[in-house]
Amino acid sequence: MIVRHTVLPNKHYDELEAATGKLEIGSQTFFYHVYFYQGVLIDTGPPRARAHINRFVEDKKPDKAFLTHYHEDHSGNASYLHRNNHLKVSCGEKTASILKQGFALPLYRKVIWGKDMKPFTPHSLHDTYIDHREGRLLLIPSPGHSEDHYSLYDPKRKWLFAGDLFLAKRLRYGMREDSVPQMIQSLQTVLQYNIDTVFCGHAGIVKQGKDALQAKLNFLLDLSNQTLTLKRKGYNARRITEKLFSKSILMKWVSANEFSPHHLVNSILKRD
Ligand SMILES: [Zn+2]
Repeated sequence: MIVRHTVLPNKHYDELEAATGKLEIGSQTFFYHVYFYQGVLIDTGPPRARAHINRFVEDKKPDKAFLTHYHEDHSGNASYLHRNNHLKVSCGEKTASILKQGFALPLYRKVIWGKDMKPFTPHSLHDTYIDHREGRLLLIPSPGHSEDHYSLYDPKRKWLFAGDLFLAKRLRYGMREDSVPQMIQSLQTVLQYNIDTVFCGHAGIVKQGKDALQAKLNFLLDLSNQTLTLKRKGYNARRITEKLFSKSILMKWVSANEFSPHHLVNSILKRD
């Protein structure tokens, strides 16, 4: 499988700058965004984008980096930047312990994002915030996409760095470790904050961010209700997935099985 990596022009938004690019495999396109805001690098991009992110870091000279979660498309260059650019990398406790142990990548993810990463020990933050050059970002635990996930909130600008909490208003598929019930709780948590703009690891800069997060929450609540209604009618997980997600998407993803709508439906059924 051939993966094509295209570096896209940096995005600018107020005092923020983002390094962005896309990876294409077959008919699928994955975007990545690494944010630089007030001296803090938020996430480090996939290993495949190493040269690009390295140039960005050499240009911006961040004081520190924070990882929203351990996934390779966010933590993929952390160890490299730490070793080569002496970048101080922080993250939540769970993220640090996963990265320290190292983790095996399923083949499909390895193909898309690039090779495995070496175990690495980032600085584990016990505070509820991380300082930046003119204030601080609040750390909001927001599990669901992964157990260790954090979002960062800037109270002054009403910005939310959402890692992979948002992604899209509707999900077409999930990953094995996704938990829809946890995602619902995390979205309800962040929606208690006054949010203008969302900075998503994949979708990029989302204006009217609060509405977008609310739309995602509504989608997941709907998906849960429909899943549980079908379960009560006697449908099993496979038939529920077939009913609620379109066939073409199903065909595309079932083969790899790492990215599949089954994982979303299963996580709802598990909690019931
Ligand atoms: Zn992720």
